[in-house]
Amino acid sequence: MRNEQKKYYIATFGCQMNVHDSEKMAGILNSNDYKEVSSAQDADVVIFNTCSIREKAEHKFFSELGRIKMLKKKKPGLKIAVAGCIAQQHGKKLLKRASFVDCVIGPQNIHQIFDTLQHADRSAVTSGGNETIAETEMPVFRKTDISALVNIMYGCNNFCSYCIVPHTRGREQSRASQSIINEIRSLAEKGYKEVTLLGQNVNSYASDLDFPELLAKINEIEGILRIRFVTSNPKDLSEKLIEVMRDSEKICEHLHLPLQSGSTKILSMMNRKYSYEKYFQKVELLRKMIPDIAITTDIIAGFPQETDDDHALTMNSLRELSFDGIYAFKFSPRKGTSAALMDGQVDQTVRAERLQEILDIQNDITELKNKKLEGTTQEILIDGIDEKDSGLYTGRTRTNKIITVPKNDNIRKGLLLNVLINQANRHSLNTIL
Ligand code: SF4
Repeated sequence: MRNEQKKYYIATFGCQMNVHDSEKMAGILNSNDYKEVSSAQDADVVIFNTCSIREKAEHKFFSELGRIKMLKKKKPGLKIAVAGCIAQQHGKKLLKRASFVDCVIGPQNIHQIFDTLQHADRSAVTSGGNETIAETEMPVFRKTDISALVNIMYGCNNFCSYCIVPHTRGREQSRASQSIINEIRSLAEKGYKEVTLLGQNVNSYASDLDFPELLAKINEIEGILRIRFVTSNPKDLSEKLIEVMRDSEKICEHLHLPLQSGSTKILSMMNRKYSYEKYFQKVELLRKMIPDIAITTDIIAGFPQETDDDHALTMNSLRELSFDGIYAFKFSPRKGTSAALMDGQVDQTVRAERLQEILDIQNDITELKNKKLEGTTQEILIDGIDEKDSGLYTGRTRTNKIITVPKNDNIRKGLLLNVLINQANRHSLNTIL
């Protein structure tokens, strides 16, 4: 007699890399006769795919873990697995801290998720330095149907002084170009229109091709209309890459290029390997070669030893560089990183005040930049239904700005069309068609 199909629920925290790792774990479990459900209450297995990039993300996970403990009391057969960066960092210690957790699996071991769950014997599978992850083919279960995430590389060699990623995801490994191209061809056959290439340091991709060469090849794949990639390190942004971006019609005019600070002194303490001047020159070159490009960035407020003058340099950089958007956070010391041990940790209140000033100035800049789009025609790709209003479709411009479009019989998901921007807000654009 056939065993009853096991049901799993995955709670994903953190970045797109984690979202995609969850899609892979789902793919592996589905191909082993598991079935995904939409709540932990209905599941036989709950997987937490965790993030440890900031303290807040870690707290969020531990409070969710506390909640699941109650559920396990009611359902003793429930299996609980912890995956992702917290799993890698804490390993066996997590099993000690939470006696109701059945297994722990690191980000370099997700291909072993099925076997690990089969045993669920309170083991921690966290073999850091897995040198074959880039060669390991895994089935992927995507819930999206227009836009797909595709890993092109794993890990990071940069050791920015505040970052835990090289410690949890290991050294850089790039997938062979043919394997990436085959995956994207098969996505195109399934009807996907857009791919976002993922890597912690995507522009240092190095396999049989370099990153610009890989992009040029992907640009030739029939059926794919748009190509995006994250995250790029400014130090690896070459003129060759900008040329390929300019000359490949499917590569969108948007680049996320984390600056982190406008002070070269702080950038050096962060081990970012570029100065503010170098960053500025790269943005100038980008805007010269691709005039309509949108540039977004990341900023850390209150890094150790950041003075008022350093903060003023960051504020000035925002005015000077006029980003389309930023992700800004207070410095969050991560255990195991060198920045956590640096002298001169900035007071929490000062960190919060500086963050607020950064957000305030950028909000005005973002709004102003979006306002300039009112009355212009933009190419958009319709990719979903608005979560708050089912009478609206959502889409994105080539510059990665979100737009809502009223539903009508001529519009469907996956359609590329030119629309007039009637109204622009800080966070989105609207068209009435
Ligand atoms: S480039 Fe720096 S910030 Fe990005 S993942 Fe690597 S170490 Fe972390």
